[in-house]
Amino acid sequence: MSIADNLLKYKNELSAIDVQLVAVSKTQPVGLIEEAYAAGQRIFGENLVQEMADKYEQLPKDIEWHLIGHLQTNKVKYIAPFVKLIHAVDSLRLLTEINKQALKHNRVIDCLLQIYIADEETKFGLGFDEAIDLLRSETFASLANVRIAGVMGIATNTKNPKQIKAEFYELRTFFKGLKESFFRDADYFREISMGMSDDYKIAIEEGSTMVRIGSSIFGKRNIKPRQEGVNQENK
Ligand SMILES: *Cc1c(COP(=O)(O)O)cnc(C)c1O
Repeated sequence: MSIADNLLKYKNELSAIDVQLVAVSKTQPVGLIEEAYAAGQRIFGENLVQEMADKYEQLPKDIEWHLIGHLQTNKVKYIAPFVKLIHAVDSLRLLTEINKQALKHNRVIDCLLQIYIADEETKFGLGFDEAIDLLRSETFASLANVRIAGVMGIATNTKNPKQIKAEFYELRTFFKGLKESFFRDADYFREISMGMSDDYKIAIEEGSTMVRIGSSIFGKRNIKPRQEGVNQENK
């Protein structure tokens, strides 16, 4: 199936239930993104800052770029002028830097709090208590140029659908709690970014509003993406 066929399949499936598709184009050449763009896709997800900035330069300016990978504080400045949504905010320090860079460009940048739901040591993300502490902090209250639009999570990489389902359920439940406690009147707090090629169906069942799908649109990635920031920076 072509990229256009794959996108059409997702569009038919997702638009009826009002779930957004982030086409994850990391490691994919600009030509394939152009193919997806020609088929009508406008939201693309990347996990490396430099790669996203390069592609932004080369591609049409009505693309909405979502950063889905871990973001290092010292790299925020490269994407602050144009990034549409940052999915993986995992510290107050990072959020403070995003606010600072957004202010320089006279923007308000939408962010999701990445919540740790997987049963794996290597994943980034805030624990439930950490997320609540962040939202309660005076520092957070002072940040006028970032907006928390919801939460994001990555389930354990397992073949066990029950476990994945339980993890997504936890994220949705936590989202609802945050909505009640901190964002009751905030219409913009509405996104639950969960689900990838292999687990998006479960994610949708559990209330995802935004799925991040790469390989089943573009095909297998032949370069293993470098994990940005691993062991390079203390939170
Ligand atoms: C790569 C990636 C995806 C997409 O994964 P696929 O299995 O190719 O669909 C989704 N979310 C994040 C955070 C990723 O890094």
